Amino acid sequence: MSNFNQESVLSVHHWTETLFSFTTTRNPSFRFRNGEFTMIGLKVGEKPLLRAYSVASANYEDRLEFFSIKVPDGPLTSRLQHLKQGDEIIVSRKATGTLVIDNLEDGRNLYLIGTGTGLAPFLSVIKDPETYVRFEKVVLLHGCRRVAELAYGEMITEKLPNDDLIGDLVRNQLIYYPTVTRDPFRNRGRITELMNSGKLFSDIGLAPLASGQDRVMICGSPSLVHDTRALLLGRGFVEGNHGEPGQFVVEKAFAER
Ligand SMILES: Cc1cc2nc3c(=O)[nH]c(=O)nc-3n(C[C@H](O)[C@H](O)[C@H](O)COP(=O)(O)OP(=O)(O)OC[C@H]3O[C@@H](n4cnc5c(N)ncnc54)[C@H](O)[C@@H]3O)c2cc1C
Repeated sequence: MSNFNQESVLSVHHWTETLFSFTTTRNPSFRFRNGEFTMIGLKVGEKPLLRAYSVASANYEDRLEFFSIKVPDGPLTSRLQHLKQGDEIIVSRKATGTLVIDNLEDGRNLYLIGTGTGLAPFLSVIKDPETYVRFEKVVLLHGCRRVAELAYGEMITEKLPNDDLIGDLVRNQLIYYPTVTRDPFRNRGRITELMNSGKLFSDIGLAPLASGQDRVMICGSPSLVHDTRALLLGRGFVEGNHGEPGQFVVEKAFAER
């Protein structure tokens, strides 16, 4: 049996010149935990061209969703950005990753820190009812350069709070905090700076980060991952992974070549 399923593109949405999302059919045999990534791609000639992608839809939804960068000369995304409804893509039958709530010890608040397309795994984590059973408050931080890059803002603030399954949980427990570095906006600055200065915590009305009560997931550029990991280690947080839950978990949103 092949390690891959063929899926059909159902919709495509372009957010900016560098970001887009698409949904596909989902083979019912494809199972994943919210927060995981899988390999997806296209056939180029006879060969599959595959890259790691976080699944942005929740594991109870019947479509798959992906949130993608467009790298102008990127082998996959220079092609993927031209996807249209009805096109076929290849999706691995397996998913994996560290950004799952099972890899975290119990705690009071969960911080989800994503930059750019690093938001993607957290879109499925915030749709998971179990997230709100495990944590009292779920704080979703999305950092970008430009306001236009704050994809999914409306879905998070308008659609999810009215969702039949998780609307009540989202209204009572989810705090969404988008921030940008290069445009005027209500929240400005890098996430690590907002944490270090304490501005984030006074804005959202929660106590400053502490390993006794807070749990953190990080997904972003290599520099965000590096800086945030250093910040947390400096405050005594312990990193978790498969089989050994900790107080924070990390995944790079892409690999630097
Ligand atoms: C665990 C994991 C999960 C990932 N999840 C996603 C995802 O959900 N969405 C997504 O768009 N990409 C994701 N990526 C990156 C993805 O695998 C590819 O790198 C990306 O699709 C570009 O592919 P490419 O072949 O066009 O260019 P590549 O040759 O793969 O990348 C070229 C260069 O583009 C830059 N780059 C690549 N991806 C990104 C990105 N997402 N944001 C900013 N710069 C980038 C890097 O500098 C990289 O060296 C993930 C990577 C990993 C390791």
